[in-house]
Order: sequence, then C-alpha cells, then structure tokens
Amino acid sequence: MTLLIDSHVNLHHHAFDGDREAVIARAREAGVARMITICDRIENFGRVIAIAEAHEDIYASVGAHPHYAKDHLDLTAERLIEMGRHERVVGVGETGLDQHYKFSPLADQVAVFRAHAKAAHTLDKTLIIHTREADEAMADLLEEEAGKGPLRILMHCYTSGPELARRALKIGAYFSFSGIMTFKNADDVRAIAREAPLDRVILETDCPYLAPIPHRGQRCEPMHVAHVQTAFAKLRGLDETECSALLADNFFRLFPGVRRVTG
Ligand SMILES: [Zn+2]
Repeated sequence: MTLLIDSHVNLHHHAFDGDREAVIARAREAGVARMITICDRIENFGRVIAIAEAHEDIYASVGAHPHYAKDHLDLTAERLIEMGRHERVVGVGETGLDQHYKFSPLADQVAVFRAHAKAAHTLDKTLIIHTREADEAMADLLEEEAGKGPLRILMHCYTSGPELARRALKIGAYFSFSGIMTFKNADDVRAIAREAPLDRVILETDCPYLAPIPHRGQRCEPMHVAHVQTAFAKLRGLDETECSALLADNFFRLFPGVRRVTG
C-alpha cells in the first residue's frame, strides 16, 4: 500500500456529521497516514482542534477563510497566536485573497491576512494560503511578509496563474494540488503541476469539496487523495512509490510539527 497524505481536509464540515469516524477509518484503511484539518472560521476552532486531539494522525490549523474575513475584523494576531500555540496546530490559515466570489471586501481580506501572517511568523508555523483571481495582490503581500523573516508558505489547492507561482516559488513557497488536476477542463492547473519543482509539491483533497475523477460530483473524502496522487505521478512520469516517498518528504519538511511516518 502506498503512503498517502492529505494536507487539507475540512473534517469538521457538516457533510461529515453523520459518519465522521467511518470516513477517518476508511482513510486509514486506504493508506492515508496524516491529515491536516483546516479551520475556516474562528468560532469553529474548538470543533477542529477536538478532531485533532481525538486522532493522533490528524493535525489542525487555526484561522479564518478569506470568504469570512468581514466577520473576523476583530481577529488579532495575538488571539491567533494564543490558539496556535496548541501542539496539534501545525498551520495558520487558510487565509489569503479570493476575488472570485468577493464574499468579503478586499481590504478586509488583506487586514485579516496580515494578522495570520504575523501569527505564522511568531509561532513559526506554516502559513496556508487560499488565493483566487488575486494573483498580483497576493504575490505582493506574500513577498512583503516573506521579507520580514523566515516564513513557510503553502499555496493550497493551487489554481492561480504562472506568474504568482513563479513569485511564490522564489520566496520558498510550496504548492498543493487537489483533485482539480483530474478534471477534464483543468489544463492550466496541470501545466503548473507539470512544471513545479518536485521538492515543492504536496497533495490534498480539500474534502468534502472537489472529489477527483472518478468520484466527481460526490462528497469527497480523504481516501480519494489516492486518485490525486495517481494523477500527479502520471503527470510527472513517476512511479507511485517513488512519487509518494517524495511527496511525504516534502510534507514533513513543510510541516515539521507533524510526527513523521516511520517504517
Ligand atoms: Zn481554500
């Protein structure tokens, strides 16, 4: 069985309320050895961290999605730092800019992003970035933050353009690709995934969203990361075992707070 890691799951989502433990058990059976479950709104952090506390192979992030930035204008870096000190928290986010849906004004997204970046610096935990249709503004912000000192950055579920990718790579960022890589119309995403340096890539499902083919349209689960890994290995002409070892290595380098898989 190949080693699998799902770097971005939303296990507190109501889509899993009926069978969360079964979903986790199925993931383990499929070979998923580590997961990071992501905080989308600060009021959900309690539920997110409880999942990590109850499962030794699941870690957590703390943060607020850019969609909800307008509801988090009082979220200070200090508060994020306080919550982020928890030993099972390995990332800060997801945070960033989303100018596709524009659920929150850009200025609010920027302000909330800054609090997250400050917390990531202070905590020395990985900043998990969500960005959509905001390439130039996102690149400017990330370069500015990276200029303040060492910062581990993950561009999660990357679907943005090559210029943001180039600028993010230059400041040491990693890229995570999702099931979108398997979608028929995702040539742009595949082009980036084909070019990305092999020591800067990890994978995710972003479940319950974005189920890869052949599960597209269904609820996505962490076990589906197997299809994402197969797609990536194929895209890069790697054999699956080699690919999985390489991706695991990248993951543990990017998230040093996650206990390595041994054996
Ligand atoms: Zn996202």
